[in-house]
Amino acid sequence: MRAAKVLAPAALLAALLVANVLPAHAAGLSPAERRLVASVDRNVPSHLALLRRLVEQNSGTLNFAGVRAVGAMLQPEWEALGFRVRWVDGAAWNRAGHLLAERPGRRGAPVVVLVGHLDTVFEPSSGFTGWTVLSDTTVRGPGITDMKGGDVIQLLAVRALRDAGLLDGLTIRVVLTGDEERSGSPQALARADLVAAAAGASAVLGFEDGDGALQRAITARRGSSDWKLRVRGTPAHSSQIFRADIGPGAIFEAARVLAEVRDSLAGEPYLTFNPGFVLGGSDVVLDSSSAGGSASGKTNVVADTAYVTGDLRTLSRAQLEHARAVMTRIAARHDARTDAVFTFADGYPVLEPSEGNRRLLALFDRASVDLGFGAIEAVDPMRAGAADVSFVGDRVPMTLDALGLKGDGGHTSSEWADLRALPIQGKRVAVLLARLAAGAARSTGATGH
Ligand SMILES: [Zn+2]
Repeated sequence: MRAAKVLAPAALLAALLVANVLPAHAAGLSPAERRLVASVDRNVPSHLALLRRLVEQNSGTLNFAGVRAVGAMLQPEWEALGFRVRWVDGAAWNRAGHLLAERPGRRGAPVVVLVGHLDTVFEPSSGFTGWTVLSDTTVRGPGITDMKGGDVIQLLAVRALRDAGLLDGLTIRVVLTGDEERSGSPQALARADLVAAAAGASAVLGFEDGDGALQRAITARRGSSDWKLRVRGTPAHSSQIFRADIGPGAIFEAARVLAEVRDSLAGEPYLTFNPGFVLGGSDVVLDSSSAGGSASGKTNVVADTAYVTGDLRTLSRAQLEHARAVMTRIAARHDARTDAVFTFADGYPVLEPSEGNRRLLALFDRASVDLGFGAIEAVDPMRAGAADVSFVGDRVPMTLDALGLKGDGGHTSSEWADLRALPIQGKRVAVLLARLAAGAARSTGATGH
């Protein structure tokens, strides 16, 4: 209870501990699982204190020293649980780096990967700082749900397994990236450690906050990638536009392409296509970032060049390929006096819905119901953006995300958490992990504890 002192007001902790009492109808738990619950209850105060320290340390993605400081706070926590921990420097992808932790289980134990991130969207210049108690159970702070709360829930759950003597039933790998919010480049290098950790794993658990709802988790995430449309026209006096040898010019042709793409793709479920930026005229320069540039033109000159940039979000790789093919075909039907070409850049991959992901959700749901915390359903993928688990979802049989702390206002200076979710998620994840271990032990005929 030493930690209670740092948590003013004391009412916050008292409310949490009341919320922590195991519901009387949590009858579906084994004796070992009840030990998990008791451990989480015991450890909430110290983990709440840790969460506060993490939130009070700025770790905007580009604040490398801050990201490293958050890693340095988490390193001894994992070491205390018997994990081998190492910091991987991120200079090669121009970011702070990642914290990796691993503890091998007994021979043949299934491998589970826990994914978190150390960074937040709040650089020191954002001015959003501190731990502000809003009520007995809610606190506002930068990164509290996205996702320092999730990083702490990982520890709470794994510590419970240790306390219950169940830790050897799994090989656990923890990957805490330092650049989830602004991925380093080259991206393949920035995510190489995450991909390596997933090798041979049977499940990946992500600790994002998801849509903020305590009764939902994520089994599918849309991927996002960028596109660029470049259109060239035949410059001429405006009075001659549409003449057979001049055509409509670059801006009209770009408008035709966009309108046809909209007509072709706008109704497709889970697919979105958004032009976010356009430049056009006689003298046009697009920045190398494709997010800015300069353009000049005259009202009486047919436009020479137009650029449009935007993004594309899909729920499967097949849907992405289909959308790109449609866009390419529409551009290729350009007016004879113009030229129109789409180029595509790979962005965040999709986490495709799968039978395995649904099975893992069912296990999580079962754990929650047995704990007396109610049913869990899947987040609508329209509400689930790209995140780190998407890089490994196609490499493992089962992936589930949004096991982190819950609240609202993520990526804004009103980000707040409902701290009652901390013990609830800690217990759900602990029971899920114990059952993944026990299930594997049963299916291989090994004896458990
Ligand atoms: Zn996040």
